[in-house]
Amino acid sequence: MTDAPNLPGPTRPALDPPASPSPWEADPAARGAVGPGGSLVAVVGGGISGLTSAYLLARAGARVLLLERGPRLGGKILTQPLAGLPLEAGPDGFLDRPEAVALCRELGLESELVETLTTRAYRWEGNGLRLLEAEGGRPATGSPARLLSLRGGLQRLVERLEEDMRGLAPRARVHPLTPVEGVEPAAGAGFRLRLGTGQVVRADAVVIGTPAHQAAELVSACSPGAADILMEVRYLDLAVINLIYPGRPWPLPGSGFLVAERDGRLISGCTWLSSKWPHLDRPGCTAIRVTVGGSGRREWMRLDDATLVAEAHRELVLALGPAPRPDLARVVRWRQAVPDPRSLDPGRPTRAQAALPPGLALAGGGYRGGGIASCIAAAGEAAALARRHLRAG
Ligand SMILES: Cc1cc2nc3c(=O)[nH]c(=O)nc-3n(C[C@H](O)[C@H](O)[C@H](O)COP(=O)(O)OP(=O)(O)OC[C@H]3O[C@@H](n4cnc5c(N)ncnc54)[C@H](O)[C@@H]3O)c2cc1C
Repeated sequence: MTDAPNLPGPTRPALDPPASPSPWEADPAARGAVGPGGSLVAVVGGGISGLTSAYLLARAGARVLLLERGPRLGGKILTQPLAGLPLEAGPDGFLDRPEAVALCRELGLESELVETLTTRAYRWEGNGLRLLEAEGGRPATGSPARLLSLRGGLQRLVERLEEDMRGLAPRARVHPLTPVEGVEPAAGAGFRLRLGTGQVVRADAVVIGTPAHQAAELVSACSPGAADILMEVRYLDLAVINLIYPGRPWPLPGSGFLVAERDGRLISGCTWLSSKWPHLDRPGCTAIRVTVGGSGRREWMRLDDATLVAEAHRELVLALGPAPRPDLARVVRWRQAVPDPRSLDPGRPTRAQAALPPGLALAGGGYRGGGIASCIAAAGEAAALARRHLRAG
């Protein structure tokens, strides 16, 4: 199983030439090039975790090589315009945490930040929508956990990080289509990264920015104990169905609704994008995001995209009332999309990190819980760990 969405073929074929001086062991001229003054950090994974770590390291003056398996950067962050609206196929916002806001500010994105218009949410219980209540019987509105996004979509964050990284070349290098197959201790000191391209990279420190199960495979040669801890995180498969309806078929007084597994519906969650986000509120159409899958829900995986769209529409009509069919629809399936919240343990990342040799840092914040904001915070910690290791060496 992979965690790649069902995207059409590669969109970014360009590989940078290897960094100069080259860390590639396959190039005999490179031997000895990575030493004092030229210490190199290899960052594995070009999602928000790896990208943020790589950016912070490069900005602090380190030589950085970002190695991404796929053709594009961003990982689960994927903005796909539909009807001219920047709709998200992955996360549709992030928690308002200081590290995340500071990163946006530093990248010059502060003026593009948008906040949810409402936090009022519902549960669909078959016979109607019930307002989700916070403790004390109050409606779950005005929650302190504000959600933020960017006017042009979350892909803007990825684009700015990538642009800034590329601006720091040749010290910072970005290599898409470069899978890392394993990380091993190098003779003497540092690490050897075996690549799917047949090459080997020698690095003084390594940051792993992949989900837990992939991180487990990568670090198993350095620490079977850390790999075992990381393998405890279980992942759930999900699909996101973005729909554009003509006009305003429903009033939508909130941000959406959730459906409990026991209710046996296809839909596990529905986000009323047009009433949740200011940048997605356009006259003449209504944007809705339906999520299917999650804990105990696997039936949807046997359905093709057209059936998923038809079934999602049928359940929306049951929940919200009659409406014409959507004008546009797009389905993105994610294998091993998000950690099962029931398998999350706040102490696990610290235990896994403690079991790794110095210089090998875990950045993947997704398995700490908390999504993008947590990834950005964890990426900062991993970058700091790698820098301390370089300074100590
Ligand atoms: C449908 C969906 C909805 C979500 N909703 C929200 C939300 O609303 N708010 C929120 O905060 N979070 C949300 N999340 C979670 C959030 O998207 C993730 O926590 C976050 O994007 C994870 O980022 P990451 O960089 O750690 O991992 P990823 O985004 O998975 O990136 C990892 C990268 O590593 C690469 N990689 C893997 N193995 C290798 C290898 N061996 N060699 C090289 N590269 C490799 C992958 O190709 C990928 O690009 C959602 C996720 C999904 C799927």
